[in-house]
Amino acid sequence: MQYNLDVPIIAGNWKMNGLINSQKEIKNLINFLKNNKKNGNVIIFPPFTLISDFKRITINSNLGIGAQDCHYEEQGAYTGSISPMMIKDAGCTFVIVGHSEIRESRNESSGLIKKKSENCHNNNLITIICVGEDYECRMKGEHYNFISKQLFESIPTTANVNNTIIAYEPIWAIGSGESASSQDIKLMHQHISDYLMKGKIFNNKIPNLLYGGSVNSNNSNEILSINNVNGALVGGGSLDSNEFIKIIQSI
Ligand code: PEP
Repeated sequence: MQYNLDVPIIAGNWKMNGLINSQKEIKNLINFLKNNKKNGNVIIFPPFTLISDFKRITINSNLGIGAQDCHYEEQGAYTGSISPMMIKDAGCTFVIVGHSEIRESRNESSGLIKKKSENCHNNNLITIICVGEDYECRMKGEHYNFISKQLFESIPTTANVNNTIIAYEPIWAIGSGESASSQDIKLMHQHISDYLMKGKIFNNKIPNLLYGGSVNSNNSNEILSINNVNGALVGGGSLDSNEFIKIIQSI
């Protein structure tokens, strides 16, 4: 699958879910995409254990496969870690970096996310860099400054619109069943777009911007029609291929 900058992105983050029998979900998606007239970048991020198998069955299909995280180094004594070079070697095109569940549970700084992303770019991988504030930050009204800082600190100088996608995922909306309101999404995506443009971070261009946080087939139509929203990063709603297909149909 080739990343097409000019069409929406629907990305499914399976998190720590999926066994070898989940092949049936992937096969269902491949079949759907084969007959689907609407164009979009559809990508599944399975756990590392399934990447090789899913790559094998998605060869020659319109379904992309990516990794949910990576190490910042190329190789070495980092037990339990997977490097961008290995992810590339397994046939992936995309990597999610800076997901809030990893930032939080492993206390990862934006500086580290930047290093991971840079290493991915050096291996010709496209990164989805995640940013998002927690509930307390939003309640204090500090969310715009917080997101600007996360963007500033997480985006490496290797980033360009071809190799980087930004995902805004407010932590309070992830896995909650309640997405952010359309107005909140609209304002934050406008803020991100203005910030990136003003800072000339992408050379007077804007990379594709995704929203993530409890996207499902009931709200995807509305969310995907918001200004500056170029797609969705979907967690729970991507596990069942029939639900995910309904979300893809909102493009
Ligand atoms: C995510 O994990 O990136 C996510 C957005 O999860 P959910 O859709 O389940 O809120």
